[in-house]
Amino acid sequence: MSTLKGKNAVITGSTSGIGLNIAKAFAEKGLNIVINGFGDKDDIEKERQEIEKMGVKAIYHPADMTEPEEIEDLISTANKELGSVDILVNNAGIQFVSPVDEFPIEKWDAIMAINLTSSFHTIRSALPLMRKNGWGRIINMASAHGLVASPYKSAYVAAKHGIVGMTKSIALECAEDNVTVNAICPGYVKTPLVEGQIKDTAKARGISEDEVVRDVLLKAQWTKKFVTTEQVSELALFLCSDAAENITGSHVSIDGGWTSA
Ligand code: NAD
Repeated sequence: MSTLKGKNAVITGSTSGIGLNIAKAFAEKGLNIVINGFGDKDDIEKERQEIEKMGVKAIYHPADMTEPEEIEDLISTANKELGSVDILVNNAGIQFVSPVDEFPIEKWDAIMAINLTSSFHTIRSALPLMRKNGWGRIINMASAHGLVASPYKSAYVAAKHGIVGMTKSIALECAEDNVTVNAICPGYVKTPLVEGQIKDTAKARGISEDEVVRDVLLKAQWTKKFVTTEQVSELALFLCSDAAENITGSHVSIDGGWTSA
């Protein structure tokens, strides 16, 4: 694996769950980190300091992924303060579960903005910087729902299918620039996002939360195990390595067999 030490990574939605674990795993390898996302200011500052204890620089930027100008500022601040943007992980995401005819319009728009369009904005700002430096890695956090559907998740499934397609298109655009673009498609990872979904799905289907875990979430996950945030981080690290330089435009599943069935 190539040395990633000293490279600079921006990870959107990294104040919680998968993104926070990726930030820590990257810092352990000596990468400087820009964390982003919502949450309690003191908690975020504590996490930032924990990351800096690993001997790297860590900056927090509060860009809201629904605001293109704030996203531009996230990338330009990272470049100014760290000197480059070598790795971009588009991870911020939200979920909302509802039958389509009752789907709140503002929830649809928010899912599209955060789970899909924000990656267009981060990439259009970061790609020229990566090209200039002759190296880059872009990882888009898609989902098994980028490849297959479940009912009541029309916005999420549409956005995640969208990001898998966008990954392929942009990968071709920068294939000769030493910049790879890939999507990771996790099955269910037990994070705050999924905890919320267990409650919402129970309500939407009129079943208990235990039944949601057994009969809905892990029904399709053939290993019957939640994917862990650590496993997703290791995959992200591999996609950043030199060994992965010919992996581009791909979607890599980490879903306990879900999308094989
Ligand atoms: P999470 O809720 O734990 O974390 C989401 C992060 O996104 C948080 O840091 C939050 O503050 C941030 N965020 C939300 N709205 C934002 C906004 N407008 N601007 C900036 N940041 C914002 O969720 P997670 O489970 O860690 O999910 C991370 C990514 O992984 C998402 O894209 C999600 O769709 C994807 N994913 C999750 C699972 C799973 O089972 N948990 C499975 C497949 C894919």
